[in-house]
Amino acid sequence: MATLRADEISNIIRERIEQYNREVKIVNTGTVLQVGDGIARVHGLDEVMAGELVEFEEGTIGIALNLESNNVGVVLMGDGLMIQEGSSVKATGKIAQIPVSEAYLGRVINALAKPIDGRGEISASESRLIESPAPGIISRRSVYEPLQTGLIAIDAMIPIGRGQRELIIGDRQTGKTAVATDTILNQKGKNVICVYVAIGQKASSVAQVVTTFQEQGAMEYTIVVAETADSPATLQYLAPYTGAALAEYFMYRKRHTSIIYDDLSKQAQAYRQMSLLHSRLLERAAKLSSYLGEGSMTALPIVETQSGDVSAYIPTNVISITDGQIFLSADLFNAGIRPAINVGISVSRVGSAAQIKAMKQVAGKSKLELAQFAELEAFAQFASDLDKATQNQLARGQRLRELLKQSQADPLPVEEQVVTIYTGANGYLDPLEVGQVKKFLVQLRTYLKKNKPQFQEIISSTKTLTKQAEALLKEVIPEQIEQFLLQEQT
Ligand code: ATP
Ligand code: MG
Repeated sequence: MATLRADEISNIIRERIEQYNREVKIVNTGTVLQVGDGIARVHGLDEVMAGELVEFEEGTIGIALNLESNNVGVVLMGDGLMIQEGSSVKATGKIAQIPVSEAYLGRVINALAKPIDGRGEISASESRLIESPAPGIISRRSVYEPLQTGLIAIDAMIPIGRGQRELIIGDRQTGKTAVATDTILNQKGKNVICVYVAIGQKASSVAQVVTTFQEQGAMEYTIVVAETADSPATLQYLAPYTGAALAEYFMYRKRHTSIIYDDLSKQAQAYRQMSLLHSRLLERAAKLSSYLGEGSMTALPIVETQSGDVSAYIPTNVISITDGQIFLSADLFNAGIRPAINVGISVSRVGSAAQIKAMKQVAGKSKLELAQFAELEAFAQFASDLDKATQNQLARGQRLRELLKQSQADPLPVEEQVVTIYTGANGYLDPLEVGQVKKFLVQLRTYLKKNKPQFQEIISSTKTLTKQAEALLKEVIPEQIEQFLLQEQT
């Protein structure tokens, strides 16, 4: 066997190194397959990282967001009009970042984290990658604390936990935004930082939301990230990432956060291939382990359906990557049942783990009862004479449905929800006309708050409907019903 001389060996090694370098160079460049509307699809770039900045031959910078096996989706910073199909792209090794700090609270910013509320610069000494890996299994613990939305229909029957991903889905103008913004209003005094990401909406709608937050004192703990319908598609894509990075910043600082993406459908419709984005975005929601400080990010993505069709591409996709859905129905909305939540088909996979005990005690059977009622009601339309039991069941159902109605921007604290459900579920409302239910409940809750403050104290200190608390309700509710009926007669 011939022995190799030292200089031959070093030649071989040099050759290998050269080839190695060339290989690295190859995998970090790519070729433009397609370009349009602020997005380029690129072949190659095999080693690019999610969120990495890439540079096109003619100088445009882009962010690699959607990494698929045979191509990479790049969001362009700029119109990209000069980018040609077949031209080359190279990765820069740098990941896009935004500044982050406590000073963002109360501010309205764009997708680049720049203020757009005319209130001056936002100081920040740290920055965060807009795309960062979702916490792994070890970094998480299971969801167990409620994120109270203040909407009885949700908190009682489709409870959301801190760290959960719950989709809000429905046709246009069914109250999707209202459910989300009411949830933010309800976080007042609850130590939850909220991020509202407005994507592709009219500027006037966003302004309206901000005004509501300001009027109700919710801006103090909220950040609004907005890219309106006339912003470049690129920035609309980027906005959810910017919001997620900010929420993450607080989550890793042991804070509870809640982020709303309103909504994720518009861009996805135009770019089916970008839908993987949603999965990575939503995976960032988490309940962190005690080792990491127990912070949380609850994600409430919103998706619009066409004629209630949830089997369409985007709804199916987002449904598959969330832990439950709140379905809003145009029929219910038009029938005046608002919030128009279809309780029967809405689910939360975290479920009662995210409810305080008192709520579990009173709401246990209500969801089933309501679902049965909806079926019965549809059937009863065609039946001429109904037996007494069926009539009673219908009467109960109508009153249960009535007590779930809530005006916009009027969230209810959990102890008042407990009273409300208890009253309906135990038949106290049966002697009332359906049209009287709402008025009575307002009166009852006001009476309790004013005259029996110990009820609220028991619930907030023990989280339980104790014997004592229940005895109080058993005494007060019939009294109030009697008084109400007398008062209504005159
Ligand atoms: P879009 O498809 O335009 O985004 P959306 O589904 O987000 O609509 P919203 O904008 O939240 O719906 O609500 C539609 C209309 O219904 C608004 O005028 C809103 O004020 C009203 N609305 C929402 N919720 C309620 C409610 N609980 N009670 C009364 N009105 C409501
Ligand atoms: Mg909306």
